[in-house]
Amino acid sequence: MTPFDDIDIAENSFCLRDAQIHRAFLDSGDMPVEADDAVRCDVIVRGGRIEAILPSGDAVDPTLPIHDLAGRHIWPGLVDAHVHLDKCQAFPRLIGADGTFAGARDATTADREAYWSYEDLYRRMSFGLRAAYAHGVTATRTHLDSPEPQAEISWRVFRRLRDEWRGRIDLQAVAFVPLDVYGTPFGARLAQIAADAGGVLGAVTRSTHGLHGMPFEGFERLLDQLFGLAEAHDLDLDLHVDESGDPNARALAAVAEATIRHGYEGRVTCGHCCSLAVQPEEAAARTIARVAEAEISVITLPVVNMYLQDRTPGRSPRWRGVPPVAELSAAGVSVAVAGDNCRDAFYAYGDHDLFDTFRQAVRILQLDNPVGDAPALVTSVPAGIMRLPDQGTLRVGGRADFNLFNARNLNELLSRPQGDRILVRGGLRVRPRLPEYSELDPPRDHAPIQTIRTETVE
Ligand SMILES: [Zn+2]
Repeated sequence: MTPFDDIDIAENSFCLRDAQIHRAFLDSGDMPVEADDAVRCDVIVRGGRIEAILPSGDAVDPTLPIHDLAGRHIWPGLVDAHVHLDKCQAFPRLIGADGTFAGARDATTADREAYWSYEDLYRRMSFGLRAAYAHGVTATRTHLDSPEPQAEISWRVFRRLRDEWRGRIDLQAVAFVPLDVYGTPFGARLAQIAADAGGVLGAVTRSTHGLHGMPFEGFERLLDQLFGLAEAHDLDLDLHVDESGDPNARALAAVAEATIRHGYEGRVTCGHCCSLAVQPEEAAARTIARVAEAEISVITLPVVNMYLQDRTPGRSPRWRGVPPVAELSAAGVSVAVAGDNCRDAFYAYGDHDLFDTFRQAVRILQLDNPVGDAPALVTSVPAGIMRLPDQGTLRVGGRADFNLFNARNLNELLSRPQGDRILVRGGLRVRPRLPEYSELDPPRDHAPIQTIRTETVE
């Protein structure tokens, strides 16, 4: 068994002997699936691509360097399908973020209006991508706050970063605005911006100054306008829905009806969907059935929503903030786990580490005993949502992009933070460094801003 620290893959042709790969990541064919739903195998890599995955002991090619993994687990690159790179890393300069949803919304608006220049966005979004890459992420979808005039700046930064990161991280973006924006002339312009950039159209199912669950004028009509724009530009939709513990927040059901009405089955993703967990069982079951029928994918953001939901100063939280993932999965709904916010007004912590999110998700959502297909929630399922069939799997002919863990079973994998994970990209070991926080230090003339509380009805 090669000591973990000594595994040094310096040539892009080699054999990994006695690896374990979870069945969520590969077509196991005739290979026996053993404990923890993993396959014990040898992996031959030639020229940076996977040439063969064979039952353990079968790979014999004396010309190749051999790395004996002694049953350690290999994962594909991680796929983080819901993040907010434009908000990330602003925490040190925020004032007024009190940890609540309304406080976060207002602190973010104030921060955006004061600071979100091209340079500021590029610096913080690059920081986020470098951290994600260092933690093993190979594809990510970011929502971009896209009100007028911010959208033009943010989408330009996104296009530059997508080009710069091509080959390391597949980067996608979603136009993110409160739904009422689609009732203004800028709605059509925003759809055009997203279409021109090859992006995804999106919205949050609340009004600009409102909270999830508050009814507002023209909700159904605005949803139809959004779907109409998506159809006109042939764009997928990715929405923020019911991010609330208010049992009256029922936008998910309305989005499912709109999806079916517009014949948009299989093209809509809904993030958060927290309030589904606090609705009467029968109402929730009805909604889940319609979501399944509409072929809507759901993304849960367990770390951020456990932190953010049910937060009232002086009162302890009573629920976990996550949707009923087991019931959604049982109904046939594709569910992914993603990272969401990172060091911003909505979530004060984090390091763009989707594996850490997965470890926490297993605990928060009780995805264990058995873990089953849960590893797919941060790999192949989000890759499907992002329409990236080469991501989130390990297959013959595919690029040799591995995350290699010093763990021989899922318990070892989930018990430690795996800070020493080894990244192999295109068949070579890469050693990216995490960016230094000091890179985000503000210029000297940078004054803190005051949070603006605007017309909030609470
Ligand atoms: Zn989000």
